[in-house]
Amino acid sequence: AHLDRIAEIDGELGAFLHVGADESLAAAKAADDAIAAGEAPSALAGVPIALKDVFTTTDAPTTCGSKILEGWMSPYDATVTAKLRAAGIPILGKTNMDEFAMGSSTENSAYQVTRNPWDVTRIPGGSGGGSAAALASYQAPLAIGTDTGGSIRQPASVTATVGVKPTYGTVSRYGLVACASSLDQGGPCGRTVLDTALLHQVIAGHDPRDSTSIDQAIPDVVGAARAGATGDLSGVRIGVVKQLQGDGYQPGVVASFEAACKQLTDLGATIVEVDCPHFSYALGAYYLILPSEVSSNLARFDAMRYGLRVGDDGTHSADEVMAMTRAAGFGPEVKRRIMIGTYALSSGAYDAFYGQAQKVRTLIARDFAKAYADVDVLISPTTPTTPFKLGEKVDDPLSMYLFDLCTLPVNLAGTAAMSVPSGLSSDDGLPVGLQIMAPAFGDDRLYRIGAAYEA
Ligand code: GLN
Repeated sequence: AHLDRIAEIDGELGAFLHVGADESLAAAKAADDAIAAGEAPSALAGVPIALKDVFTTTDAPTTCGSKILEGWMSPYDATVTAKLRAAGIPILGKTNMDEFAMGSSTENSAYQVTRNPWDVTRIPGGSGGGSAAALASYQAPLAIGTDTGGSIRQPASVTATVGVKPTYGTVSRYGLVACASSLDQGGPCGRTVLDTALLHQVIAGHDPRDSTSIDQAIPDVVGAARAGATGDLSGVRIGVVKQLQGDGYQPGVVASFEAACKQLTDLGATIVEVDCPHFSYALGAYYLILPSEVSSNLARFDAMRYGLRVGDDGTHSADEVMAMTRAAGFGPEVKRRIMIGTYALSSGAYDAFYGQAQKVRTLIARDFAKAYADVDVLISPTTPTTPFKLGEKVDDPLSMYLFDLCTLPVNLAGTAAMSVPSGLSSDDGLPVGLQIMAPAFGDDRLYRIGAAYEA
């Protein structure tokens, strides 16, 4: 049924870069057989999924939305891919994304535009717009994204779906092609909080093949989602972040957020305002740290090891082939960030830019720690506005960056957060998301409060 749905509408929406019809049908059949034999490998056995094209797969190309990887096949599965397979979850295909996960609208994909199912003239969010559009249009009931600065939560917000950025170090980055290694985290996406929790449980866990993976038990997110669905939040303390509201937030987004606060109070929660003074510097710090890591990580695309090779006709030196391949294979946003990062890490600029940004990062983590000493979770709108029109911000990177204002601090601190649908905006009838944030290894709190809010 999902493959039929993809055939019916993905020509218009452009969520998938690759559909693995035969492979997913074979996996579904294997799951059915296991269930019939009373050996279901997981609660989600047989439930298909859309996988962001940044996780390696041995049976489908992995492009990361970039021309530089066109046609490249990975010799190994990412840990997340392997866990999905082991749980009997058929992979429908690979979803469109901003090139190497850099972007907020999926318009930086080298391959195609993805449209928001709620209004096909608008962006589906980014960088994981393909996964969110697939979910919102019922092409897939589950999806996987990655969140480096908001790329799971922000697409979830603008498509009225649920997306979770788990605690850093709890979902393996092995086989997740790196954007910024200290910020990247894979995570689950669904249409309900419980679906998302079931998927979270499948993909999380310690992995010795990821040096930043943490060897600590994953909280019981499924139990928390079930407990939350009873709708009782008495005793829960929720902080509203003072710095994540005010100028620049659309009236409809503000109205939805105020309604959410009232609803959470009605469910028994206590709401207080919390000051996180360094959040105002999150955007500046993020856009130095991320490009710095990008400039280092993307050096591996040297025309020798993976994918595209331009000028390999015997008349050019290795250096020339490398330069020509990168010039042709990387898009403008990726080049912009490689240049910013290379500059920020250069000896004359390092202390003033990269070093300073790392100090700000610590101060943001301290703001969170101080806040969580008093409250269980923090909340804010997920995005300051509803989804903008395709093409509206492509020539204005700064305004594109501002769309992620509310989601970035969590990545800098390595903590956990969810976006849960928060109704439609009174301004334009488009989806609005509520962001719920929790301390490291407090992912279960997101599910409890998200499920209570959703119910
Ligand atoms: N939009 C942000 C950026 O462009 C976040 C991307 C992400 O989370 N992968 O960097």
